[in-house]
Amino acid sequence: MKNKVQFQKGYSLIDFMNDYGSEEQCRKALFKWKWPQGYICPECGGQSYCTLKTRPVFQCNQCHHQHSLTSTTIFASTKLPLTTWFLAIHLLTQAKTGLSGLALGRQLGVSYNTAWSIKQKVMQVMKERDDSKPLSGVIQLDDVYWGGESRGGKRGRGSPKKHPLLQQYLLTHKAIRLR
Ligand SMILES: [Zn+2]
Repeated sequence: MKNKVQFQKGYSLIDFMNDYGSEEQCRKALFKWKWPQGYICPECGGQSYCTLKTRPVFQCNQCHHQHSLTSTTIFASTKLPLTTWFLAIHLLTQAKTGLSGLALGRQLGVSYNTAWSIKQKVMQVMKERDDSKPLSGVIQLDDVYWGGESRGGKRGRGSPKKHPLLQQYLLTHKAIRLR
């Protein structure tokens, strides 16, 4: 059993890997953040859809509009797996004193250029979040966290998973290309 006091604020790498270690877990999480009430077609508002077999793309049963899971997110148009992105966000948000592009690249197993690009995008989101605080009152802004509530809330099995950083991105950003 975890020591609740000791682990209350942090979200360890082990926790993270348990929650977001596989591509499937990342996809499921992204789907939930994007469509917390279930899938809604951005074209016609229809809620029934089918999934393409080859890619994580959803096709509306009414208007046949196709919408990729990563559309309108920071992850759009990237060839990197979601697991790489999620881990990058985790590492960057956990590193209170900053993390160099070089160190990030080593941790992720990607080139310096790729790591640098990822870092710029994530830092941009974090900065805009600090500047505008559009979700104030809905989420806590003093601490970025991946797991349940960071303070005074439920943790562990069955607790709601939230990621304000990503959720804000989904609300405010168009796709940004990553080379
Ligand atoms: Zn539709």
